[in-house]
Amino acid sequence: MAKKEKINDRYFESGRSLLPGRSRQATALLEHCMLCPRRCGVNRLQGETGFCGIGRKARIAAYGPHFGEESVLVGSTGSGAIFFGGCNLQCVFCQNEDISILHDHEGNIDAHGGDAGGEAVDGRQLAMIMLELQEKGCLNINLVTPSHVVPQILEALAEAAAMGLTLPLVYNTSAYDSVETLQLLDGIVDIYMPDCKFQRKESAARYLGAPDYPQVMQQAIVEMHSQVGDLICGRQGEAVRGLLVRHLVMPGLLEETAQIMQFLAHKVSSETFVNVMDQYRPCYRAAEFAELNRVLRPDEYEQAMEMARKAGLHRFEERDFGRLLALLKLDPR
Ligand code: SF4
Repeated sequence: MAKKEKINDRYFESGRSLLPGRSRQATALLEHCMLCPRRCGVNRLQGETGFCGIGRKARIAAYGPHFGEESVLVGSTGSGAIFFGGCNLQCVFCQNEDISILHDHEGNIDAHGGDAGGEAVDGRQLAMIMLELQEKGCLNINLVTPSHVVPQILEALAEAAAMGLTLPLVYNTSAYDSVETLQLLDGIVDIYMPDCKFQRKESAARYLGAPDYPQVMQQAIVEMHSQVGDLICGRQGEAVRGLLVRHLVMPGLLEETAQIMQFLAHKVSSETFVNVMDQYRPCYRAAEFAELNRVLRPDEYEQAMEMARKAGLHRFEERDFGRLLALLKLDPR
């Protein structure tokens, strides 16, 4: 019953009372930053930066209606994506290294130059971007790589909700999130979209630079599910609330896939909506790892889907080839 009551909560209804307090709580965490499992302890209020490379202000690399996301997030008008600069992971196969990885291998900031990670924005500017995306008819606000800028997001939401923002909020994350920070988002985020990367700590250390990733990711996803439940869609098939998990199948690492699917089905819910993704391609430093330096074979993807079904999962993102071709501006006929 408690969960049902939560599910009827929406941030814009309770926002005036809930958001300013949560925003203050989260901002206080920046003084000795323990926002994520890196626990850097730097004073971001004074502009210091830790692993993620972001100080007091969030950086935005790009924003706008995005049609490349899951069909339940896109509809006909697009998902209102906001791409944040910086990241608290450092995946060796990162596809967005120019906006996400702001430290070089020696830990020096701004590995890609002074504007790395995009434009710095304050809470009011971020709120205006959210409202602009709503004005454009987007189906939701899709916060891409948000873990290290939760206080800045809450600051903006407090203003945006007061100015009329009502779209569902999507927290689109690598899942390297601390439970304490996620609890500040309870009753605010509508849709959690974590990326389940690895289940073995050896893989997480080798490819993400975070040996504790599997444990952190599992605790985070259990917390997310306890807040929002299984994915619920509206009349047009659009996601309105719940958990949507992504898993990028990695070449030669299918045992990771098998363990992740078992975790989701048995420790989260067999009703978990999963996007099993086949689009891995070698990027960033992947060429340094022979096993990652190729694309996925079709038979590996089929095995991954079979593993998911065998684990007991049955709600999957359907691959809509017509939509994909339209994105590439090709005519499917
Ligand atoms: S949010 Fe950034 S500075 Fe804070 S603990 Fe995480 S990586 Fe470090």
